[in-house]
Amino acid sequence: MPTDPPARDLSVGTLRRLVKVIQEISMARTVEAVAAIVGRGARELTGADGATFILREGERVYYADEDAIAPLWKGKRLPMAACISGWVIVHRQPIFIEDIYADTRVSVEAYRATFVQSLMMVPIRTAAPIGAIGLYWSRKYRATPEEGELLHYLADSASIAIENIGLYTELKQRTKDAEEEVRTKSKFVSNVSHELRTPMNAILGYAALLRDEIYGPISSEQIDPIEAILRNVRELLSLIESILDLSKIDADRLSVQATPINLTELLDEIIRAVQPFVEKKSLALRWQLETLPPILSDAGKIKQILNNLLSNAVKFTHAGEITIAARNLPERKGVAITIADTGIGIKAEDLPKIFDPFYQVQADSTRSLSGVGLGLSIVKELVTLLQGEIQVQSEIGQGSTFTLFLPYRSTSLKTD
Ligand code: ADP
Repeated sequence: MPTDPPARDLSVGTLRRLVKVIQEISMARTVEAVAAIVGRGARELTGADGATFILREGERVYYADEDAIAPLWKGKRLPMAACISGWVIVHRQPIFIEDIYADTRVSVEAYRATFVQSLMMVPIRTAAPIGAIGLYWSRKYRATPEEGELLHYLADSASIAIENIGLYTELKQRTKDAEEEVRTKSKFVSNVSHELRTPMNAILGYAALLRDEIYGPISSEQIDPIEAILRNVRELLSLIESILDLSKIDADRLSVQATPINLTELLDEIIRAVQPFVEKKSLALRWQLETLPPILSDAGKIKQILNNLLSNAVKFTHAGEITIAARNLPERKGVAITIADTGIGIKAEDLPKIFDPFYQVQADSTRSLSGVGLGLSIVKELVTLLQGEIQVQSEIGQGSTFTLFLPYRSTSLKTD
């Protein structure tokens, strides 16, 4: 048997075209797209009369795509033993056939209705082939080593691309499964919390009626226990509200209801709402609001963030003032809202942990205060959803400053 001459160097033009095809292959997101690109590329690069892309399906081969002067076998499934692509896959080696009608390895029946006289075929992946790429000529032709080389490059790229598509699809499925799991859990938590809220409200209502002596006079010894019931049930209700908030965030993790917002109006509303609580603790409330441009964001979520920060500021401040400031930051394409208090402050070592769920600074002076430690973790989640940032500076005994950065545009994070 004559041995093949060594392959000559591929021309620059051919290499350029090869790189372009390989780039296209690497960007394909489906096996069908890979098949189509490889078929077209193989023909274009070699000038053959036809090219096919074949995939192994167990003991059969599937002619996934083709590019040829006349139809070949596109869409057909054939037993491995009945065609030359099967031979290439089983023997894990390429084949060059100058005249199919003179080669015993070919069962010519499959070719009679086609233009094919000679062919070349290489396996996709030699270790355990997942398919093959074929080139066909309508005349007697001995494919050159360069054509063989080109086909090998295409086969290698196709093999990597198909593997990546598999990984990508698996990853996408896993993400979908994980999201589904989060949704199911959130639904469960949300249902349970709702169910708990109703009896809790009933306990609260009846305890309040008892305290107000609607059911008759109560003794002075009974006042403290009834107040304790009221206090604890309120705590539980607030915990349930926070859990409901968190499960809501989980459930619509991907949705931001973005509408144009006038932040100055929103801040006015927030300030008016917090005023009575500030006055109740004899604190001063100041605000410094620059003129702010309208932003595209989720008003409900922004209110929730600011209310949480403000209620903490009121809760942890026993004297002095609370300041709300808003600045426009055109260079960062966003706005900064600052809530500063002159309260108890937070130790440097606690600062990184205060955004963790259920984290509360352990200090005698604060633990007499209500709260369950979910507020700031909800804030953090919401800020992330709005593609913003939250920072805190604090000094013990001096006060804390929380700075919320919001971009001019918070878009929905939903992707396909
Ligand atoms: P909660 O207020 O329900 O305890 P948060 O998640 O809102 O929970 O806050 C976590 C902890 O961070 C609080 O328990 C408190 O120790 C600390 N913290 C939050 N805001 C302030 C503040 N403005 N001043 C001092 N400490 C604060």
